[in-house]
Amino acid sequence: LCLFALAAVAADRPNILVIVGDDMGYADVGFHGCKDIPTPHLDALAASGVRFTNGYVTGPYCSPTRAGLLTGRQQTRFGHEYNPGGGHGLPLTESTLPDHLKEAGYVTGMVGKWHLGSQPAQVPQQRGFTDFFGFLGGAHSYFNAGGILRGTEPIKELDYTTDAFGREAVAYVERNKGKPWMLYLAFNAVHTPMHADDARLAKFSGITDQRRRTYAAMMLAMDDAVGLVCRKLAETGQEQNTLVTFISDNGGPTMAGVTVNGSANTPLRGSKRTTLEGGVRVPYVVSWPG
Ligand code: CA
Repeated sequence: LCLFALAAVAADRPNILVIVGDDMGYADVGFHGCKDIPTPHLDALAASGVRFTNGYVTGPYCSPTRAGLLTGRQQTRFGHEYNPGGGHGLPLTESTLPDHLKEAGYVTGMVGKWHLGSQPAQVPQQRGFTDFFGFLGGAHSYFNAGGILRGTEPIKELDYTTDAFGREAVAYVERNKGKPWMLYLAFNAVHTPMHADDARLAKFSGITDQRRRTYAAMMLAMDDAVGLVCRKLAETGQEQNTLVTFISDNGGPTMAGVTVNGSANTPLRGSKRTTLEGGVRVPYVVSWPG
């Protein structure tokens, strides 16, 4: 009877897919009314679940909010309110979401941008993730990307990195079917550098602002990747039992005088790097059909 009860509990554990976009504008998704950039797959995710129009991250920069997300603690409590420099990273005193999920019997994987420390003791595999494909820093080239790791091995990645991250996430979802799994899919899109592929750029010839046009193509790539992962969930019969969340790690960088990416936070005021609404209030969706 006891074993039966344990097995029943195991069957009830949902898969958990945490998707993070990078430096997205609040206004730049269809489910917030965006007109010039289609995001059909993110919109479908929103339609299948709950859209939180008052969704806030815990800071206006990449690494602090990712630290808050993965630890479940306000990052200032452990001195991580700024992007880490030098050899710094997420303090080893903190435990992470995948640490806890492993204890609950989950397999844990990460694809994408880490930005929580690159020293040997700080890498994803030391912070709860069994599988890792991605890069350790805070920004990365999207083409002919060196510095991409599969586990601890550097590889030469030839695909546009957003496509590569979608591909790897799809493979993870497929190979872990039947286990309770967690996947942290942390895009660096649509963070600078502004790199987009020609095929997607061609779809936005009507956007005359070159930076906005490139941003649109980068957004489309991320939406495509999300669509492929969601399609794989459906194809493998895991859609009902997978809890999917999507957020941006901070608002769009729109502030004059520093690096911007073509994003828009309207009707919110402010930008990445500020704690005005535009810096910390982000697109936020949770979907769990079952
Ligand atoms: Ca960011």
